[in-house]
Amino acid sequence: MYYAEKGWRMRKDPVELRFVVHEHHASHLHYDFRLEMGGIFKSWAIPKGPSMNPADKRLAIMVEDHTLEYGGFEGIIPAGYYGAGAVVIWDEGSYIPAEGGDPEVQLESGRFSFELKGNKLKGGFSITHLKGRGKGNQWLLIKRRDEQANPTFKLEVALTEEKREKLEVKIPLSNGDSAPP
Ligand code: MN
Repeated sequence: MYYAEKGWRMRKDPVELRFVVHEHHASHLHYDFRLEMGGIFKSWAIPKGPSMNPADKRLAIMVEDHTLEYGGFEGIIPAGYYGAGAVVIWDEGSYIPAEGGDPEVQLESGRFSFELKGNKLKGGFSITHLKGRGKGNQWLLIKRRDEQANPTFKLEVALTEEKREKLEVKIPLSNGDSAPP
């Protein structure tokens, strides 16, 4: 088990690993998929967004780490700042590494499997680093074929006009966020 291997079984309160998916209405709409590990959020920009359909292989471009505080961010990044535009939380929850072990080590190996417990994203997923020239930061996020899989999944945009009107203009806590082309 993950906690046992980390020697964390002695902790009274096991650390819950968080995930969040930000819907980011930058110059191109994309979804920022973030997994907590090592005290930060590892982050990927997914142009088409995550899918519950195992047939969908979603290109996920690794972007810079974000602070855990940023996980709760919703707002409108003002013009002139990188990633200017509305950001809302599309999904969030917790996750566990599917095969135990240290998520950072597995990610470093180029393939990481995990179980998501979100409102929209549930069950097994894997994220796999693409090899080859020019693919340095390219990964694929794929839903595992399990009971939660949904072959007819269609992503629904979370930002409604009503929601947009409630968002405040905010400068993000972390610096920068690479939007995909
Ligand atoms: Mn983004």
